[in-house]
Amino acid sequence: MDATDHLKASLEAAIALANATGAEWSQGRARAPLDEVTVGAVLRLTTNRMPSIDDAAVAEFATGGERLYRALLLLTEGETDTAASAINELLASTRAAPVLVRHPESAWHLHFATEDVSIATGWLAEFGTATAMLLGSDDLDRLHPCAAERCDNLFLDATRNHRQRFCSTACQNRTKVAAFRSRVARP
Ligand SMILES: [Zn+2]
Ligand SMILES: [Zn+2]
Repeated sequence: MDATDHLKASLEAAIALANATGAEWSQGRARAPLDEVTVGAVLRLTTNRMPSIDDAAVAEFATGGERLYRALLLLTEGETDTAASAINELLASTRAAPVLVRHPESAWHLHFATEDVSIATGWLAEFGTATAMLLGSDDLDRLHPCAAERCDNLFLDATRNHRQRFCSTACQNRTKVAAFRSRVARP
């Protein structure tokens, strides 16, 4: 994994956490309260060193995730100045700062949180940094809201020609089925 891959993985995780906490509807389902299973699934997108997640951490991830969602949504709406302020606030509140660390049996690599913050704050610092890097990059126009009914997820368009409309194949299929049903329902 090179340096940019690492940040890309963190950006995918940031968007997943934002969707889990900020999207009212996700792939046809109303949002459920955040729990440690979902936080675990989010973190697995970017690490295989899984921390233990207690209730306090879940609450902190929930608050941070909502802030990330608001900032990312503003970016999809072209409200870059307001999004930048929101991301700066998140970076300041998490005291995000680049620091080189080395875990037992790992190589030196970059973290974005100081050592003395909570696990959730540390990850939110990294997610805020990844979002800040997106804002300053050409990839920003790859961030879209899902076009499906009952889905407020945001996603990064992975296609070369920027034609991806849905957050997932689940939403693509739901939309196809709905279009088919409305055709056959017509007299
Ligand atoms: Zn590490
Ligand atoms: Zn969707």
